[in-house]
Amino acid sequence: MTDIRYDVAVIGGGVIGSAIARELSRYELSVCVIEKEEDVCSGTSKANSAIVHAGYDAKPGSKKAERNVKGNAMMGDLARDLEFEFKRNGSLVLCFADEDMPKLGELYQRGLKNGVEVSILSGDEVRKMEPNITKEVVAALWAPTGGIVCPFGLTIALAENAADNGVEFIFNTAVTDIKKDAEGYVLVTNNGEIKTKAVVNAAGVYADTIHNMVSEKKLHITPRKGDYCLLDKEAGGHVSATVFQLPGKYGKGILVTPTVHGNLLLGPTAVDVEDKEYTATTAAEIADVVKKSAVSVKDIPYRLTITSFSGLRAHEDGDDFVIGEVADAPMFFDAAGIESPGLSSAPAIGVEVAELVAGKFDAKKKENFIAKRKGFVKLAEKSFEERAAKIKENPLYGVIVCRCMDVSEGEIVDAIHRTLGARSLDGIKRRVHQGMGRCQAGFCTSKTMEILSRETGIPMEKICKNSTGSEMLSRKM
Ligand SMILES: Cc1cc2nc3c(=O)[nH]c(=O)nc-3n(C[C@H](O)[C@H](O)[C@H](O)COP(=O)(O)OP(=O)(O)OC[C@H]3O[C@@H](n4cnc5c(N)ncnc54)[C@H](O)[C@@H]3O)c2cc1C
Repeated sequence: MTDIRYDVAVIGGGVIGSAIARELSRYELSVCVIEKEEDVCSGTSKANSAIVHAGYDAKPGSKKAERNVKGNAMMGDLARDLEFEFKRNGSLVLCFADEDMPKLGELYQRGLKNGVEVSILSGDEVRKMEPNITKEVVAALWAPTGGIVCPFGLTIALAENAADNGVEFIFNTAVTDIKKDAEGYVLVTNNGEIKTKAVVNAAGVYADTIHNMVSEKKLHITPRKGDYCLLDKEAGGHVSATVFQLPGKYGKGILVTPTVHGNLLLGPTAVDVEDKEYTATTAAEIADVVKKSAVSVKDIPYRLTITSFSGLRAHEDGDDFVIGEVADAPMFFDAAGIESPGLSSAPAIGVEVAELVAGKFDAKKKENFIAKRKGFVKLAEKSFEERAAKIKENPLYGVIVCRCMDVSEGEIVDAIHRTLGARSLDGIKRRVHQGMGRCQAGFCTSKTMEILSRETGIPMEKICKNSTGSEMLSRKM
């Protein structure tokens, strides 16, 4: 593909690869991110609960616990610097029976050990805070530092800022093999070979496959599927905090949470699957989500469900994050097994891995690092006067394309032309939320395709929902 030898090649453009790339871009290093799909945020980072966990849940002393607490503490400043949506709405863990109180007490102690602000509320105190909590709830753990984030916004912000600081993103390129050579590694891809001195493995559910290409000490990741129901904005105020149930063997139970976009999210289930691409939602799992969510919160308006989706947790057999240089593969660094709380931990993992890698190079920090990034213009959130001013500046801001989410043509054009601009319908959706509303792009798909084709020169019949193979049209009209 190229004769360049990068200092560092990051495999995977999810939230972890993007966080690491952004932190690496602080240093005098040549860095690329290799992503098999057409855009960043195309794997697990696009389909999760979007909670910035407070950090009471993971075992004290584990990598998960430490990185979660650090990442949570970093999220506020990061959201301000990179302008993505994040809100500290707090989280509740509900206890439904007196005999489970010792388990709630354990969680409370765990929270204290992990350094998290937690308290125990009575059932009545919880219902005062959240009137829709069921009468069966006897107590709850309250963690005010819990938050909600836009997972696309976070990942895209990190990636854009990395690109603005010189990181090269190579899309539609899958690493299929890794060879060692005298100066480092040669990554074999579907688009030719890429040479690099160091590798960072941030390949999500495929991080075991990538790791096992270079190491005799094998990893094994089980994709653990979680299904969700997303409800319309009309239901968004049904709860204000994130409402968990006491955790069990497979995780944190079914949650009910508002999203930063104002919707209500219910889920996820937890079912181990074989196929690393299997993200179908099933009737049985959705029924489970409905049944269990009703135990926590009453009168959920399920008829306002606008879509269902699922994501795959990268569950490693060791049940913790695998972070660091691989013992039998010098200059090869893992960020593997990053299941929940991976989104919350991403800022901390980014700094940790970048410091480790930069330390090996003895790399100096750049003087001209751009620490801030401008977020997307969101006209729907602006006042009438602000909107009028933007429309005067560019009349396309006055042409509404997505009626459900109130997204204008000008915003879609911006999403296409800025750093790492969108090249697919999903890419536009994740940047400016076109098609994310009640009609799920029923009305605005064809108009958005026309805009994407006009702005990029991609012929209409080649416009994809996401990667190649997801073309929207079967032939030229
Ligand atoms: C159901 C569910 C709920 C969750 N809820 C939360 C939550 O509320 N809070 C929280 O903190 N965390 C949560 N998580 C965890 C969080 O979503 C993940 O930890 C995080 O998104 C992992 O990011 P990643 O970058 O490691 O993986 P990914 O986002 O999957 O990125 C990996 C990337 O690598 C690419 N790739 C893979 N193989 C190759 C290859 N051979 N060549 C090139 N590219 C490749 C993929 O295409 C992908 O884009 C949840 C996860 C799930 C599934």
